Amino acid sequence: VSKFTVVEKFLSLEGEAAYTNRPTVYVRLAKCNFKCAGFNNPARLRETTGYAKLEFSPKDVGVIWEVPTITRGCDSQYATNPEFKHLWIEETAEQVLQGVLDLLPGQQWQHPETGLNYIFSITGGEPLMHWKVLPELLSHPFMGGCKHIIFETNGAVPAKAPFYQAVSDWVSAEPGRLWTWSVSPKLSSSGESYKAAIKPDIVVGMASVPGTEIYLKYVISGTDDEFNEVVRATSDLGNYPVWIMPMACTDDQQREIDQHVARECLSRGYNFSYRTQNALWGNGVGT
Ligand code: SF4
Repeated sequence: VSKFTVVEKFLSLEGEAAYTNRPTVYVRLAKCNFKCAGFNNPARLRETTGYAKLEFSPKDVGVIWEVPTITRGCDSQYATNPEFKHLWIEETAEQVLQGVLDLLPGQQWQHPETGLNYIFSITGGEPLMHWKVLPELLSHPFMGGCKHIIFETNGAVPAKAPFYQAVSDWVSAEPGRLWTWSVSPKLSSSGESYKAAIKPDIVVGMASVPGTEIYLKYVISGTDDEFNEVVRATSDLGNYPVWIMPMACTDDQQREIDQHVARECLSRGYNFSYRTQNALWGNGVGT
């Protein structure tokens, strides 16, 4: 039986883009193909490993919920940097889904009284690092009743046909299912190169899975250069709906630029996405 490297599972409100504020249960899988050390890091402070410099030592953290809020680079560095490996756990698909169900009222995908469908978000890190084992999760009986999966990806990991087939099979296994590719392509300001981050073939592969929808979610501080890159990347990737989100690990960082980014979205013709998890919960672990 295959194992997933799991960072955390939690129940929260979807914080970003098209399904903001919907009750959502998350599994955060470990590892990523990128480091994104450029986010919120104007002084470009990096560890020798290439990750953005932390204000604490990972080895001093004993349990995942005690990870301090990360203030520069990738805000989920605790899911990507191997120095946090001692906080990660190996679980089978069944253990992952049992943990997810245990977080839901009545341990079911629909609320026992209101019937509300809880969204299942598979996030990371980069969940496509697990594409070979994800089919086991999607076909597991504990998925019964789950109607909506949001798959949070940077859109730059080449998965192969069996994964896309498993997504298509998941969608068609029950009526009323929806799979959302929430693709967050990384712009140069993340510290990753355009060539490595903007992968039209991969995004087209996702968009062509029957029964799925896709949107692009860019993280920007609000400069003209970034908006120009959004235009270029969106044209290269295929003109899907676009959401723009302020670059911010913390709520303070978001508040500094949120109005500027929002105004730019209004005039340039993009959907704006707040990071609700920053404003509402302070963007700590488990939100
Ligand atoms: S792609 Fe996402 S998870 Fe990976 S390092 Fe960048 S921000 Fe973090």
